[in-house]
Amino acid sequence: MATDAHGRRIDYLRISVTDRCNLRCVYCMPAGGVPWKAPEEILSWEEIERFAAVAAGEGISKIRLTGGEPLVRLGIVDHVRRLRAATGIESIAITTNGTLLPRYANDLFAAGLTRVNVSLDTLDPDTYSQVTRGGKLADALAGIEAAFDAGMDPVKINVVVVRRLNQNLLGFARMTLERPVHVRFIEYMPVGGAEEGVACASTEGEGWTEADEVPADEILARLTAEGALAGFGELLPLAKADAPGGWGPARYYRYPGAPGTLGVISPLSHHFCGECNRLRLTADGRLRTCLFSDDELDARTVLRSGTDADIRELIEAALAAKPASHNMRIGTVRRMSQIGG
Ligand code: SAM
Ligand code: SF4
Repeated sequence: MATDAHGRRIDYLRISVTDRCNLRCVYCMPAGGVPWKAPEEILSWEEIERFAAVAAGEGISKIRLTGGEPLVRLGIVDHVRRLRAATGIESIAITTNGTLLPRYANDLFAAGLTRVNVSLDTLDPDTYSQVTRGGKLADALAGIEAAFDAGMDPVKINVVVVRRLNQNLLGFARMTLERPVHVRFIEYMPVGGAEEGVACASTEGEGWTEADEVPADEILARLTAEGALAGFGELLPLAKADAPGGWGPARYYRYPGAPGTLGVISPLSHHFCGECNRLRLTADGRLRTCLFSDDELDARTVLRSGTDADIRELIEAALAAKPASHNMRIGTVRRMSQIGG
């Protein structure tokens, strides 16, 4: 079992498989995108699999694939199959914008990927197109259907809540009454943009501001009040043991009798650094100890010129360097799409 310098058990690895994406969400990337890394800068599938196998030996027992958009990288299905074999980890998860799931969900499930988080911030087609800068809501919704049809479980929806977007949260709440979907509302985080002096890419130079943040308690108050008005009943907290999938920091709730749940993830208003269980591997092979810290370790060089023992040593160095808390840092050099969320 891996423990970091602050006594936290580290058993979760997020692997970003690409920095590329087929969308340009306003809170994640600038309108013009970010310059893609050259192919030789990106870890090969084999390099990722080798790293993950060593990490599994060091106590990692949960893996999530992310990006950029992980489904735009060719070979993802075979990668999942090999990753399972290399690590012995049964169930691999993915975070995706969902638009390519209609094409891949069945094959991913057959390869052993059973847990999916689809990022979807609105159920209004125009707002979706605005947030993603040109994406089609129907594609993301079709992706969610494809995940259910393939048999994936749990199916979660990640909603980043941004005040100026004026999102209708009740529509998501209604979904949980209808099917076993787990909707998590995430506080908008000031990640990226440090070099431009604007935290987050956001809309044309405006960037993240505190005014755009909607604290989790406000989200819950809205879901409680609007749910009661709509006749959904009282929003009740779930015990931690009943959390769907239960790998992460969300606090979960449910309306009476609902097959699905609602969760809030509050990195800013109630930060959960004390329970942090993760390391992140970026697509270009940097091992990141905290979402908000640009102090990274160079895994790519070790993977290209070192032994498995060197990789183990690097992971141990990352555990030793993992900060106790993100210290409310505003803005990082890397953008969210270059880290993987
Ligand atoms: N493309 C995939 C997707 O959108 O799910 C995976 C990568 S994306 C960077 C991972 C997650 O980070 C998504 O759920 C996205 O909504 C979230 N995210 C991106 N920028 C964010 C921000 N500034 N604050 C909070 N969450 C953010
Ligand atoms: Fe792409 Fe995901 Fe970032 Fe949106 S949040 S731009 S889908 S990487």
